[in-house]
Amino acid sequence: MFDKILIANRGEIALRVIRAAREMGIKTVAVHSTADSDAMHVRMADESVCIGPPPSPQSYLSVPAIISACEITGAQAIHPGYGFLSENAEFVQIVEDHGITFIGPTAEHIRVMGDKITAKDTMKALGVPCVPGSDGGVPDLETAKKIGEEFGYPVIIKATAGGGGRGMKVAMSADEMESAFMTARAEGKAAFGNDEVYIEKYLTTPRHIEIQVFGDGKGKAVHLGERDCSLQRRHQKVFEEAPGPSITPEERAKIGKVCADAVAKINYIGAGTIEFLYENGEFYFIEMNTRLQVEHPVTEGIFGVDLVREQILVAAGEPMSFGQDDLVINGHAIEVRINAEKLPNFSPCPGRISAFHAPGGLGVRMDSALYDGYSIPPYYDSLIAKLIVHGRDRAEALARLDRALGELIVDGIDTTVPLFHALLQEPEIHNGDYNIHWLEHWLAANMAQ
Ligand code: ADP
Repeated sequence: MFDKILIANRGEIALRVIRAAREMGIKTVAVHSTADSDAMHVRMADESVCIGPPPSPQSYLSVPAIISACEITGAQAIHPGYGFLSENAEFVQIVEDHGITFIGPTAEHIRVMGDKITAKDTMKALGVPCVPGSDGGVPDLETAKKIGEEFGYPVIIKATAGGGGRGMKVAMSADEMESAFMTARAEGKAAFGNDEVYIEKYLTTPRHIEIQVFGDGKGKAVHLGERDCSLQRRHQKVFEEAPGPSITPEERAKIGKVCADAVAKINYIGAGTIEFLYENGEFYFIEMNTRLQVEHPVTEGIFGVDLVREQILVAAGEPMSFGQDDLVINGHAIEVRINAEKLPNFSPCPGRISAFHAPGGLGVRMDSALYDGYSIPPYYDSLIAKLIVHGRDRAEALARLDRALGELIVDGIDTTVPLFHALLQEPEIHNGDYNIHWLEHWLAANMAQ
């Protein structure tokens, strides 16, 4: 086992990794920009290294600075968290070339899944159901129009290098194809340096269901059921839960096995998420994330396992601590993402926290790097806290969420907490009756943006 690991991240996820490491008796090294000298992850780690100025390209994304921090401190492995360098195959290669272990999948797996066309081809070949659409890349507008006619509108044009909701455009009819095709290409080029696009049938009322998988890198893999992340704003998840309110045990067992078998076949190592759209009882693969997800705590809640601990174990060459038969669902878990944003426009709202109180009690987990007097810097993601609740069933989890949100105090800045108070008044939320468009419609009707 490692003696010391470095966490190439900040905020709540850096704390999350430090906590797992500490329970395993592993020392931790935090890295930080000059804007984060007072950040909680720096205070909580055993050691810290300043790696550059505030802008991420010069600090949290600076590969030489991170490798140097490892060498100076003698850290034997790097945990990337999510975002930043977590899905950067080149980074993983450089880490390994320096004799440091990357706590995550191989560079090759990241490369394959990072390109959406290659990922889809790979998954199809492994027997995973996919959204009908073009066979690979679509070279020009003429071909795009032909595909639109063949599959029938609406269709979605996606940049193969896209991510975070960027590089995707919907064409509702043939008239919209030209502008959607050109925009998706331009966004792919501008944001990711790659203008290759492909086309899929646009599903009109799907839910977002994702399967958590975990592999030991030696051909053994399990699934940890699904998370329903259908409540999204601008393709970004805001409320996630497990198990999915619309998924039956039979469906879970079936799609879960397909996913576990697929990743076992490619000797996948560590945590991964296979994302699907789910409509009329069918699953359609959209992408695989080769990292720990923001919403992993809901899965931990219902299975009672520590996914970061497992990531560290398998990266060190040790076996996973559970097999498929050990994974039994207990109750229901919900996570809400609390952002430093001002409603109704969700505009970023960094600033000084004048008072902070985290909720507690049975079944409440708060993953946050906030503290009294902390100043949220303006340079990074606006996620400031994840509130996760667990109950014996969905109704109890929702009541607990309401209760815990009421206890939370974050003074000095605006947050998205009022959004969740308002959502908890809606019958659809209590019935679990929504698809991926529900929240956008609700926001349009209830929060003039
Ligand atoms: P990203 O990598 O940018 O997150 P995804 O492929 O995961 O992109 O898609 C993000 C979201 O876009 C999905 O959760 C869903 O809301 C929507 N989406 C993607 N593909 C389709 C599709 N074929 N039909 C309908 N909606 C889609």
